[in-house]
Amino acid sequence: MIIKTAILIVDDREENLLALERILAHTDVMIVKAQNGNDALKACINHDFALALLDVNMPDMNGYELAGLMRGEKSHSATPIIFLTAAYTHDEQIFKGYSAGAVDYMVKPINNEILLNKVNVFLDIYRQKQELIQLNKQYLLARQEAESATRVKSAFLANMSHEIRSPMNGILGMTQLLLSDNLTSEQQRYAEIVLENGNHLLALLNDILDLSKIEADMIELEDIDFTLEDTLRFATDILGFSAREKGLELITHIELGVPSILRGDPLRLRQIIINLMGNSVKYTEQGRVVIRVSVQSEESNSLCLRFDIKDTGIGISECCLTEIFKPFTQADSSTTRRYGGTGLGLSISKRLVELLNGEIGAKSIVGSGSTFWFSAVFKKSPFQTIDAVPEEHVGWDSAIAAAPLQQTRCKFLIVEDDSNSQELMGRLIEMLGHDVDTVDCGSKAIAALEQTSYDLVLMDFHMPDMDGCQTTRIIRSNKACIINQQVPILAVTGCSALDEQERLFRAGMNDYICKPVQISVVKEKIEKWLMTSSKERKIDQGYNA
Ligand code: ADP
Repeated sequence: MIIKTAILIVDDREENLLALERILAHTDVMIVKAQNGNDALKACINHDFALALLDVNMPDMNGYELAGLMRGEKSHSATPIIFLTAAYTHDEQIFKGYSAGAVDYMVKPINNEILLNKVNVFLDIYRQKQELIQLNKQYLLARQEAESATRVKSAFLANMSHEIRSPMNGILGMTQLLLSDNLTSEQQRYAEIVLENGNHLLALLNDILDLSKIEADMIELEDIDFTLEDTLRFATDILGFSAREKGLELITHIELGVPSILRGDPLRLRQIIINLMGNSVKYTEQGRVVIRVSVQSEESNSLCLRFDIKDTGIGISECCLTEIFKPFTQADSSTTRRYGGTGLGLSISKRLVELLNGEIGAKSIVGSGSTFWFSAVFKKSPFQTIDAVPEEHVGWDSAIAAAPLQQTRCKFLIVEDDSNSQELMGRLIEMLGHDVDTVDCGSKAIAALEQTSYDLVLMDFHMPDMDGCQTTRIIRSNKACIINQQVPILAVTGCSALDEQERLFRAGMNDYICKPVQISVVKEKIEKWLMTSSKERKIDQGYNA
């Protein structure tokens, strides 16, 4: 519907209104007439005026009073007002008019041509303003549509990459089993190529899943108390294996003044650290990777921490330093051939850092090494203490120092509804020399744990009816499961572990293994938990004796 532009004319004398109407007839606008202030205010309810021509001297409510009341109304607070006055003698009166909201004055008798010119100027401004408002509305609508399309696209990508991970589990798991069979050297090579490419595809899927989740606004930040040292240790534990293989030292250093307990999102922080330190380990052949944490700035309730991750690796040329934070960008094309990778890790880290209200950057010297840094804002925890943590070396030495696990035959319970995954996990555990019972749902798992003593439970995270977390909560609180109440329960999770870690730990699980499962990871985790639980059993027996 096209609404005609309207002008309000107010004068207590009928003949003046008619005269004004006649002049304005040339403008092709709707004229709304009022003979007093009250009628004019009523007209304001129904119209949006491009201009108001107000007589100053009127009984009951004069022009200034009317202008003041119009200005008070939101819809007319910016309507241009021209006062029509019989004569102006005092400056004081003019100021009064302007302060009441006048944009102009005209003295009676009115010169028709001048009035018409002035009115046309204001009508032009009004029409341009209307066009701008219209354009702005269209722009906002287009922006909303574009944003929602991006969110839908990212949500689709996130769901799709999640769905693809399940069949990948079967492909990678079975290929690993195949590789442990007696294959000819040619078959071995083919299977290795399948595994290598599958792993690359999986890394890409994981990154796309993370990036699309961030872009689809599907990331909800946690606001919990956490220990900085634990977060760093978790990251160095994960990277310790690759660092040890290359003979690299991993060093963490938390500077004086950094509180040991912070409030914020430890999972996102951990993900950024793992991405950056993971790159450092990947692109460094010898030497060390050091992470240093310091206080960048402090407010009464929050503080901004700075993390510097320094390596002695291949370095990056100056021109590539800003580019590498863009998705799918690598410093040079030979990187993928030599080191693999997707070119997504840094863009994910950048977005995560921005979610934590921080900044990220890097400096580097080709051949000498790189320092990636980022800042992140955390709330101060009411439980915080400020400690100086000594430098901690995680690497070669600590790996040698670890006592080897005495290989004993243990009994495992696998809780998994998918038959392919059941078979894969079962074969894997048997290959590692242990016995396995398998059940396909939470209630059967509880029944089994009431009857038989197990050394370790592998629990699928997503199951119909009762999921892994619900089942674990019942096991941990059920007196009937007393023989297994402390049994280590490891979640086997199909989704990006980041989403689920907090939930599974809260439910009482001890650790998790990500699908698609990697034999080396399963081996490492179950050895760790079998060792922990056998130690605990020894302590228990000691107490009982
Ligand atoms: P990816 O490592 O999967 O290729 P990233 O986004 O994490 O993707 O990194 C982008 C590129 O930045 C890498 O391909 C590599 O060229 C370069 N890069 C990142 N970190 C380092 C580092 N510590 N040392 C040298 N080059 C690095």
